[in-house]
Amino acid sequence: MSFVPANVLGIQTVAVYSEADAMALFVEEADEAVCLGPAQAKKSYLDIEKVIEAAKQTGVDGVHPGYGFLSENADFALRLEQEGITFIGPDAKIIELMGSKIQSRQQMKRAGVPVVPGWDGSLESVEEALELAEQIGYPLMLKASAGGGGIGMAFIQNPEELRKAYATTRQRAESAFGDGTLFLEKFINNPRHIEVQVAGDHEGNVIHLFERECSVQRRNQKVVEESPSPFLDEETSQELLETAVRGVKQIGYTTVGTMEFIFDDQKNFYFLEMNTRLQVEHPVTEEITGIDLVELQLRLAAKQPLPLKQEDVKRTGHSIECRLYAEDPKTFFPSPGTVTRLVLPEEARLDFGIKEGNNVTPFYDPMIGKIIVHADTREEAIEKMDKALEKIQVEGITTNKTLLQMIVQNSDFQYGEYTTKFLDKLLLVNT
Ligand code: ADP
Ligand code: ADP
Ligand code: MG
Repeated sequence: MSFVPANVLGIQTVAVYSEADAMALFVEEADEAVCLGPAQAKKSYLDIEKVIEAAKQTGVDGVHPGYGFLSENADFALRLEQEGITFIGPDAKIIELMGSKIQSRQQMKRAGVPVVPGWDGSLESVEEALELAEQIGYPLMLKASAGGGGIGMAFIQNPEELRKAYATTRQRAESAFGDGTLFLEKFINNPRHIEVQVAGDHEGNVIHLFERECSVQRRNQKVVEESPSPFLDEETSQELLETAVRGVKQIGYTTVGTMEFIFDDQKNFYFLEMNTRLQVEHPVTEEITGIDLVELQLRLAAKQPLPLKQEDVKRTGHSIECRLYAEDPKTFFPSPGTVTRLVLPEEARLDFGIKEGNNVTPFYDPMIGKIIVHADTREEAIEKMDKALEKIQVEGITTNKTLLQMIVQNSDFQYGEYTTKFLDKLLLVNT
């Protein structure tokens, strides 16, 4: 199975980069590259007009926004539309609707999709939050409507904590997303994060490409993902997949996306949010279905219909992805620096952003690469991953490699018995 870069599909590519990424692998691999400006994301990757300028200057037909940065920015999609350049993603209106957790919750409720119990309005004051919290019941999640990447949410156990967290969470959301709108959700006990990959076309067809289990998390952000989920039985799985498709059909969705759900220990599931972009963990889905999701995005953006029907989407075997982060495996503090040595396993699929000699900068997300394996059974996939991890050698910076090894060697993980609290517990036991 091969997943080909766009330029192999016959499409010429232009990369945009910041001064900090001048030596990066993606710059080297693209046919052309344009420097956007200084390292700070606000002055380069997040500067809409600079990206538009680069697109116009090189005469591109379309822009693939990747993940992070402007990938879920409605203003960016709109500006491209105004310039007659295709945004490889949904319409600006859909990004706006689903980018707001409050609005998307309301929308999904209307489609009959169960959402996490909570309050679907924006909080006006801490007094109002305290009053609503009594009605919903503790523990709670205080969340930024515009949140992403695990940023802008706080776990709240009592009124005292809510009082304390209210202003800081609002502030953090304001500075990270330019929008301090907050809302409240019930905290789901023993939660599991399971999401559904979906795809829609311009003719109104929507299909799912099965689920991904993403409960191994640190700071509410994913570290290891797999598919199929070891938690789901056939019946629950079917119900989840059908529910996701129903929700997506209702909004008129014309590209690939992810419906995120949270499960409680009774196998009840609730809609969390939708990501209207390619997901970091998309390779896991590509491995089990054999479908290249980026190619699919390109075809859908060209207004081609979905190339296959639901019954043609088959899954085989089991796939696992590990995110290699440049960070301390215990404290999760980022570890920027120069990678003086990089040895990677040959038997795994590798999606890496760096090569030997590259600098890992402190400016962006510290993920440096992903290791993906596929095997007939979950057991074999775990074994393959364990072997692959063992071969990895990174010098010059600290990585979370030992933590990843600890995860795949852990018996709870091996039995598939883990929730989003798994990593915290694992670290507690081992320190
Ligand atoms: P996924 O849901 O695809 O697993 P993550 O939530 O980990 O993705 O976020 C995808 C990437 O985008 C990560 O590298 C993350 O740090 C980055 N990211 C997500 N949201 C933001 C944001 N609002 N600002 C900057 N980076 C973000
Ligand atoms: P983001 O936009 O940052 O990805 P999400 O709403 O998707 O935010 O939540 C990220 C993670 O936070 C979830 O995968 C889950 O682990 C945890 N989480 C979020 N909401 C809840 C909740 N109501 N109850 C329990 N855990 C939650
Ligand atoms: Mg999420």
